[in-house]
Amino acid sequence: MNNIDRLHSPKVMKDILSKYGFRFSKGLGQNFLIDGNILDKICDGINLGKEDEVIEIGPGIGTLTQALAERSKKVVAIEIDKKLIPILGDTLSSYDNVEIVNSDVLKLDLNELIEEKFENKKVKLAANLPYYITTPIIMKLLEDKVNLESIIVMVQKEVAERMQASPGTKAYGALSIAVQYYCNPEIVTIVPKNVFIPKPNVDSAVIRLDVYDKPKVKVKDEKLFFNVVKGAFSHRRKTLLNSLSASGIGVSKDQIKDMLDNLGIKENIRGEKLSIEDMGRLSDMIYELNNK
Ligand code: SAM
Repeated sequence: MNNIDRLHSPKVMKDILSKYGFRFSKGLGQNFLIDGNILDKICDGINLGKEDEVIEIGPGIGTLTQALAERSKKVVAIEIDKKLIPILGDTLSSYDNVEIVNSDVLKLDLNELIEEKFENKKVKLAANLPYYITTPIIMKLLEDKVNLESIIVMVQKEVAERMQASPGTKAYGALSIAVQYYCNPEIVTIVPKNVFIPKPNVDSAVIRLDVYDKPKVKVKDEKLFFNVVKGAFSHRRKTLLNSLSASGIGVSKDQIKDMLDNLGIKENIRGEKLSIEDMGRLSDMIYELNNK
């Protein structure tokens, strides 16, 4: 295959899929991109340059991989489906800066992979994966503090909105805080259904996550912080006070009332109004109380 035969052309894609008798797997979330503009937006979105090194998860037939390879120094692409490996060998044959790893990303230690393939340098990560595993994978990358500069990922549109949401908006919740604790999220573009073959049921968005060197707020106990966040949003129609005291976090209603009072926060506030900084301060107060 010639690298001028752009895979995002539906005809080129259909020809290559029929050459290999490839059948899409719904379970593996195989919806392949057929829009060159979106590929450009993804590469521009992470400000990809010739010095950058990239991990791609879920290359499919290599559509985005080609774009990444042309604009960066090196790409290591991880694909679970062994039926795609010969296709990728074909579509990426003219790129000498691409390596394919046939593996399930959920079973890989990405820090080890970065050590082995990138000499432990900070890399950028691009992914377009089945949506039901995308959020858990992003959270695992962030929680494991994988050595990443930024992540650019295709997610369901509503999930992107929740990741980027600010306090007081409808989309703001535990996911917003969990993501914003580790990185700065920014929606790059909304992606309509018709730029994929086959067409998915939902609209998508490309979101960039710029990973902080240190979490956005410094808390005394990270595990407790995330439990407080979970507790604060566990009963969306209840006030923060009722939601937290019902969440089994081990503090009484009166104690939470005192803490909110100390923080200058009204006791009838709902969790969705609280900033990540306030949530951090509240969690530290609970920590102090539990460790007196
Ligand atoms: N990047 C290509 C594109 O945009 O056209 C394909 C994206 S498609 C939505 C998702 C890809 O992720 C498929 O190629 C699928 O086989 C692969 N995949 C699914 N689960 C995976 C996993 N656990 N580890 C690695 N790759 C996976």
